[in-house]
Amino acid sequence: MFQVSLIDLVAAYLIGSLMFLGLAWFVGAALRRRRDRRGREYLVFCSYCGMIYEDRGKADLTRCPRCAHLQERARPSSL
Ligand SMILES: [Zn+2]
Repeated sequence: MFQVSLIDLVAAYLIGSLMFLGLAWFVGAALRRRRDRRGREYLVFCSYCGMIYEDRGKADLTRCPRCAHLQERARPSSL
């Protein structure tokens, strides 16, 4: 018969729990990064007045809603 001590069971439980938590953390972080990247995809930073606005168009030039300055599409690297 296969014998398992209580220490082995506790160790297996702890290792399994840590592996599950690590996997859940990794998947959560990857989903968060993906969501942040998609959220910034349409944000445009106005280099003239500093406003960050959303523009879902595909044109290379966008017009800032605050100062009406035309500029090339350049996305902010971080908020
Ligand atoms: Zn502007």
